[in-house]
Amino acid sequence: MIYAFLGSYDFSTWLQTWLPIIFMGLLVLLLYKALSTMRTKPQKLKATSAPKIGWEDIAGADEAKEELQEVVEFLRDPKRFQKLGATVPRGVLLHGPPGTGKTLLAKAVAHESGAQFYSQSAASFVEMFAGLGAARIRRLFSQARKHAPSIIFIDELDAVGGKRGMDISGEKDQTLNQLLVEMDGFGESQNVVVIAASNLLDKLDPALLRPGRFDRQILVTPAGVDGRRRILDVHTKNKPLHPSADLDAMARQTSGLSGADLANICNEAAIFCARRGGHSIAHADFETALERVIAGMATHRRLNDHERRVVAFHEAGHALCAELLPQVDPVHKISIVPRGRALGYTLNLPEEDRYLKTREELEAHMVMLLGGRAAERVIFGAVTTGASDDLKRVADVARAMVTEYAMSDTFFSLQISGDQLSDKLLRRRDDEIQVLADEAYQRALEIMVGYRKRLEALAERLLEREMLERRDIDELMEGAETPRPRHPVAHLGLAAMAPPGGADGPSL
Ligand code: ATP
Repeated sequence: MIYAFLGSYDFSTWLQTWLPIIFMGLLVLLLYKALSTMRTKPQKLKATSAPKIGWEDIAGADEAKEELQEVVEFLRDPKRFQKLGATVPRGVLLHGPPGTGKTLLAKAVAHESGAQFYSQSAASFVEMFAGLGAARIRRLFSQARKHAPSIIFIDELDAVGGKRGMDISGEKDQTLNQLLVEMDGFGESQNVVVIAASNLLDKLDPALLRPGRFDRQILVTPAGVDGRRRILDVHTKNKPLHPSADLDAMARQTSGLSGADLANICNEAAIFCARRGGHSIAHADFETALERVIAGMATHRRLNDHERRVVAFHEAGHALCAELLPQVDPVHKISIVPRGRALGYTLNLPEEDRYLKTREELEAHMVMLLGGRAAERVIFGAVTTGASDDLKRVADVARAMVTEYAMSDTFFSLQISGDQLSDKLLRRRDDEIQVLADEAYQRALEIMVGYRKRLEALAERLLEREMLERRDIDELMEGAETPRPRHPVAHLGLAAMAPPGGADGPSL
């Protein structure tokens, strides 16, 4: 078709004529796009028009709030500090896991101090053309200076603040350099504070953390049980609660979850309540919401009978290990209703918030993770792909035990990175990781063989009801004694593990 249109031209002549024109056209288009992005203003939220987020809307982050209160006071009355010759931090870095309230804290500082709030995600500074990001930073700082007192909030700082020299295009490095220049250029009289948020403190360029830049670093972590209770209060403030709703119990059951997760649970609970036509949110709505946030949405996947049995025994295997090993968190619920990517799940909940783990606890955790695979092996004599996620997690734990926590008996590692180890030491390190994983699997197999009757009871009840709660598990596990701790763990073959007479008890 196109040749017919070109008439007497051949294709190469056509290309020679039009290609430069097309190329120039594209160039003009790209330059136009670049200029219009440069002209785009950073999102400006006037404190008055910003969502009114005050300290009372943030719960469970008391230390961060206390530290930031100083910034609020500085922004409100800088002279009080300047008269005494005090230098108040110009850059505050909030770091910690996602959803813990870092953005919320920055907004609250703006609201409480009455300062202008300029918010920008660092990812939006990174442009296709070198120099554009730097121009955006210049513009952002100049606006903030003009309208001081103001707060510049830079989210996901790691997007530009990664270590320099790793960026081939040079765009990120230029942007980061510009940020450093702007922060160094703050005079004492300028009433501007930069607050940045990042999940990856150790990835940041050290130049960012030097005095005068982000020298105030505040760790924001998931709240403890009291904090979680208060976050639940914040997010249920305007929601009608049924007398059965037990927020204390929810706070206990949500260890490790972030403020964003808790906000999500409260919202999901309200949605479940509305869907069932309820007028006030009951405890069952919160339980369903927790399950959905942790394990994902129930799916309509249909398993055949054999697959259903495999899943039931797999989950019962995890639960059996968790119940028998005192170092593992107790089981709250077991389900074989497919949710998200999972065909079933066993939900363990800690009884209290913990900040340190012992070697025995990590070992027991690996045994519990391998309980599913061990149950498949013992009951069906064959294993499936269902344990892939468990196996990855075991590998992570075993690797961390050897390389990060130096918990191996024979390989005392001082966190030496792989490229500093000789081949011989590398092999020894990998062998150690393998030994830890092997031992855990061996112990899981022993539990399945030694407590086979309990395993079958748990799995059969699961097949019957699809879901077991704490009281069902208590009933099925009544009288079961914990296996004796075995150190060092002996390597036994499967055949050698069956206790005399196949007893269902701690005869290992
Ligand atoms: P990210 O690192 O992913 O950007 P973040 O730490 O900035 O996350 P926010 O965006 O501040 O987290 O929090 C998300 C939502 O979670 C908030 O809008 C709020 O609803 C809720 N939330 C988080 N932490 C708290 C808290 N401490 N108190 C009350 N609500 C909270």
